[in-house]
Parts: sequence; structure tokens; C-alpha cells
Amino acid sequence: MNAGIRPPHHQYDYVGRFAPSPSGPLHFGSLICALASYLHARQHNGRWLLRIEDVDTPRIDKAMSPIIVNSLKQHNLDFDGELMYQSERFEHYQSSLNYLAKQEQIYACKCSRREIRERAPFYDGHCRDANLPFENYALRWKNEAKRKRFHDMHFFEQIVSDRMAQEDPVLKRADGIYAYHLAVVTDDIEQGVTHIVRGADLLDTTPLHLSLFCALASEEAVQPTYLHIPVASDKPGQKLSKQHHAPPIQDEHALTNLKAALQFLGCSRAKFNHIGSTEKLIEWAISHYDFSDLPKRTEILVSDANGVY
Ligand code: GLU
Ligand code: ZN
Repeated sequence: MNAGIRPPHHQYDYVGRFAPSPSGPLHFGSLICALASYLHARQHNGRWLLRIEDVDTPRIDKAMSPIIVNSLKQHNLDFDGELMYQSERFEHYQSSLNYLAKQEQIYACKCSRREIRERAPFYDGHCRDANLPFENYALRWKNEAKRKRFHDMHFFEQIVSDRMAQEDPVLKRADGIYAYHLAVVTDDIEQGVTHIVRGADLLDTTPLHLSLFCALASEEAVQPTYLHIPVASDKPGQKLSKQHHAPPIQDEHALTNLKAALQFLGCSRAKFNHIGSTEKLIEWAISHYDFSDLPKRTEILVSDANGVY
């Protein structure tokens, strides 16, 4: 039997990453995530990687990636190592899938969205024993782990919805697109990511990511630690996103944007408002921002955030 995906040769104590999906330019919500994961990494003398999550190629605008990279630069959020694009890594996702298939953990599913809805509350493993050919169908993972809990560094013990815990997730869609879950877990293992700081909208996916990690990673890989941060929303349950027309951040106002983001992360503005350059502000935040000030909420309405936005 194959030994699973190996982490990089050299295992660092701390490897963090920012993994934006380039469906649009950075907006205030993505800047918050970038800043929090950057500060956490630098406070631990860690590496901070940038991975462009353009796996869902039809939905991605190619022109966005350089705009995102440039925005981060203008905000003095400098990443380490080589920029990774998921769109260049399909063979890695296919080999993860093959690895699981070899262990009979993958099956083809022909159910339409409507059929699944009708058999609600969620996908019930309907095609598990149907032995359908892999070509032209969605491929699902036999999620035997059905993991429901995990420990988050900020929100502590988390229990997720039955759907996320029990469903057999699609890892490759019928149209050939690899699923986000497969890509993220494969990349995090191969990049030796140890700490994942990301938005609380992804809390629910974490047990599944941990189960996939266990199914895919070789023995020497270390399971990552998670820290989820509040997401910025413009209405309850609606995080800022391009879909909902969140305005792009203006690079020429980088200092103002970073101050607003720091304030959103719970840092009192009086402490840093006098600082006059992005370099100095980032330096200050690395040594002074305290993650225990991060609000214990999964969502903060930008309208409630004291005019920070
Ligand atoms: N690409 C995902 C997003 O932009 C983030 C994935 C992650 O951090 O694990 O929402
Ligand atoms: Zn099915």
C-alpha cells in the first residue's frame, strides 16, 4: 500500500498560509483574514505562504491573481516562498483521488441536486454500492470517520452540523473540477502547513478537512492547528463577498485599511492611530497585537464595527 502524501522534506515548526479564492479583488473581509494569519505567523517566527485557490477554474477571473498579489504587497503583507496556484496542481489532486480510490474509499454518484434535496436532509450515500463507472459522474469520498468535533484555538471545542459531519463529500465534480476540500487538504499537507488561520465561515468544514487529512497524509505529516476568526458581514449571515458586491480595498489607502482591519480584530485604535506608515504599523502589530483581544464571535457586522469600514 502507498504511504500517503508526504509533507515537505524540511518540516518547519510554524507554516501558515493565506488562501484567497480569486473570484474578485481583495475586499475588507479578505484583508482581515490575510492580516490575522500574517500576524499569527510572524508572532511565532513562522513562514507565511500565499496560495491562490483558483481550483474552480470556470468561476475564476485570471486577471484577479496579480491584483491580489499586488494588494498584499501594498499592505506590506509579504509572503514567503513560492506563490502557489491551485490551477497548476490538478495532477496532485488526481493522485490524492487515486490514492483514496485504491483503498476503495471513492465511488461515483449520479444523483442530481434535486434528487438529493428530495431525499433530504442531506446526501445519504445513495450510490455507495451502485458501482457506477468513474467517468462522467461526480466522485464522492466514503466518509466513514463522520467526525463531528474539533478543537479550535480561538473558539475551543466545536461541534459541527450533521450534514458536514456525516455526508460523503464530492471530491471531483461530474464536470471534472476538483473540489475545494480535496485541493485544500492536499495542498496543506504538501506545503507542510501547521497553522490555519481563516474565517469562521469555514468552522463547519474543519472536521471533514481533518478526516481527509488522516485519510491522505503519510505518517510523518503533522495535523494542522486551526484558529478561526470572526468574519465581516454586511447583514447577519451574509459575509462580505464579491457576490454581494463588497467593494475592493483601495491600495492607495493601505494604511487606513490596515488600521480598520486591526480594529476589527479587537485592537484598540488609540494604541496605534499615531503610526504613519504601513511598514511601521505592521511592525507594531507583530510585536503588540494580542490574539486574546480577538472578539469571541463568528461574525461582526461592519455596520457595528464602530465605523472601522
Ligand atoms: N479559499 C478559501 C476562501 O477564500 C479559504 C480556504 C481556507 O483558508 O482553508 O474562502
Ligand atoms: Zn448518488
